Amino acid sequence: MQKKLEQLVLPMLMEGAIVEVLSAKFPANIIPNGAIAYLDRDGVINIGSPNYINSPDELKLLDGAAFSIGELKRHGYYVCIVTNQSAISRGLWEAKQLGKIHYHLQEMLLDIDEDANIDLIITCPHRQIDRCNCRKPMPGMLYLGHCYLRDGLTLDKGMNIDIKIPNDAVRVNWWKDKTMPFNQLDLIVGDRKSDLGAGWARGIRLYKVNPNIGLNQVIERLVNFKDEGDFFQPVR
Ligand SMILES: [Mg+2]
Ligand SMILES: [Zn+2]
Repeated sequence: MQKKLEQLVLPMLMEGAIVEVLSAKFPANIIPNGAIAYLDRDGVINIGSPNYINSPDELKLLDGAAFSIGELKRHGYYVCIVTNQSAISRGLWEAKQLGKIHYHLQEMLLDIDEDANIDLIITCPHRQIDRCNCRKPMPGMLYLGHCYLRDGLTLDKGMNIDIKIPNDAVRVNWWKDKTMPFNQLDLIVGDRKSDLGAGWARGIRLYKVNPNIGLNQVIERLVNFKDEGDFFQPVR
């Protein structure tokens, strides 16, 4: 039965990531500090599900997540969600559905905190066997966020599909030392090792949270510019 359901939608074949460009608004009088807060979605902003979040009405925000995103913006961070959503390449639903889910997510956040504007949502639609450059722990989505927010990559407002990531950008030696970040304040928050791995590969501050608590667990550390994040080693 499950197998048949999965075949209902023919998955769109794409090599690259899905990049949604949102408002990019900062609160009045706040100047961007140049750093990017990369946030995993499920288990960080909203409650995750083993069966994916398949529609807007399945979204349930974690307590304090909206306020925490507002806090990041009030401290001048760009906020970039980076999320693995293999339901898309499994053919369960299409990118258009992802857009609906994320439109609702942004609305719910702003209902609670008027500063909780997301700048960018980057989604890997692939499965592990697709061997793409975006699926965390590969750092491809973080690289794309950097390119768009700080390095002149041009994208349309709204949804951009199949944005390719060059192989050079995800060449990682997991056995060497952690590299230097583009910006000392860059950070990633996730509930899995794969989130920390992607951040480690970019040399940024790493924060692991309990998926039942999410972003609120670490917000005070994130806005403390002296906090160096969690210790993490991908291998060894
Ligand atoms: Mg997660
Ligand atoms: Zn991917």
